[in-house]
Amino acid sequence: MGSRESVEMPDEWYREGLRFTCTQCGNCCTGESGYVWFNDEELEAMARYTELTPERFVKRHAHKIEGKWSLNERRGPDGFDCVFLQRDDAGKALCMIYPVRPMQCRTWPFWPENLDTPEDYVRAGKTCPGLQKGLQGEGEFVPIEQIRIRRDATES
Ligand code: SF4
Repeated sequence: MGSRESVEMPDEWYREGLRFTCTQCGNCCTGESGYVWFNDEELEAMARYTELTPERFVKRHAHKIEGKWSLNERRGPDGFDCVFLQRDDAGKALCMIYPVRPMQCRTWPFWPENLDTPEDYVRAGKTCPGLQKGLQGEGEFVPIEQIRIRRDATES
């Protein structure tokens, strides 16, 4: 993962870059039941970080779907929370494995399916205030080169 070369695509409507800063609302870590995929390398890192063996980590925090590992969820106030989502007293979302979170989490919102068209991107922003603010010109500027790297990192 991450070793592919990022390539220029014909329909990069976002070629001037986009703005995005996560507001730590936690919406992308909760809500409808979903999947947080991770590979063996990411498992090693998460296991080390949580001071577990990889075997113990998956037994405690993950399950397999069609041969692929995904992090567990638990019932939360807004639906299904990622097992590593916690909130501080001010309601800010905290990822308990932030430094070693899987690529899927690192690359949001620049996923290929969100970048297909501007409409797809706006749709993805419905539950992501960080993305919405970016569309209004707020937040950190992310140049096209960075977007491509994140976009291509999640393609299988
Ligand atoms: S939904 Fe967007 S703003 Fe909220 S935590 Fe996720 S990335 Fe950050």
